[in-house]
Amino acid sequence: MNDGDGHGSPPLRLDGITKQYDGGGGTVTALDDVDFTVERGEVTAIMGPSGSGKSTMLNMLGLLDDPTTGSVELLGERVAALSARERTDVRRKRVGFVFQDFHLIPTLSAVENVRLPTRFLDADYTDRAVDLLGRVGLADRLRHTPDELSGGQKQRVAIARSLINEPDVLLADEPTGNLDRDTGEAVLGEIQTIADAGVGVVAVTHDSLVGEYADRTVELVDGVLDG
Ligand code: ADP
Ligand code: MG
Repeated sequence: MNDGDGHGSPPLRLDGITKQYDGGGGTVTALDDVDFTVERGEVTAIMGPSGSGKSTMLNMLGLLDDPTTGSVELLGERVAALSARERTDVRRKRVGFVFQDFHLIPTLSAVENVRLPTRFLDADYTDRAVDLLGRVGLADRLRHTPDELSGGQKQRVAIARSLINEPDVLLADEPTGNLDRDTGEAVLGEIQTIADAGVGVVAVTHDSLVGEYADRTVELVDGVLDG
């Protein structure tokens, strides 16, 4: 694996991705020949109804599952060529995740949650965690645990956590799904700021609000990407 920044390559690219699941009821084609490029500095919304393949596509982009056919390229390199260990490493370094239900550890403070992805590293990331929490407007909530935070604050902690490793790509699964409209707008504002700093952001959603904030919106229908 080239450990450089991939030079001019896009951070992530899906090339002819098909994903099929074989189950009791037969084969389901969750993604059908999808081409998609994540661009730096851009927020893309992937919209589509339930069952259209959004989570499956996010799993492909996040290197969490293998396609049936087609290739995933991270910074111009085919992910299929990597060992499981290398894949975990590049995911940790290059990709940040934000989820609808935040995925925070309830017993840990905001700072501890944000620095958690760095627990296997030698350096102490506390200062960076504090800095990131300040950037998302939570400088006065560092020691609060998730149950002491509002939904919007929890999502901002999760966004700060997703940035701790300075990822090239931020993947968000329904980031505003559990938030009211005003709070959702504030969180989307944070996400736009992250993209402005050069990160490629992909949000899968059926919230039209996310579409309003996105630089680009593509539609998934029955596993086929349009746009
Ligand atoms: P979305 O996130 O848009 O709701 P999904 O990506 O979760 O859609 O699912 C797309 C299709 O693939 C659906 O028909 C779903 O039933 C099917 N599917 C998803 N995951 C699995 C799986 N692990 N096994 C079998 N079928 C699956
Ligand atoms: Mg889903």
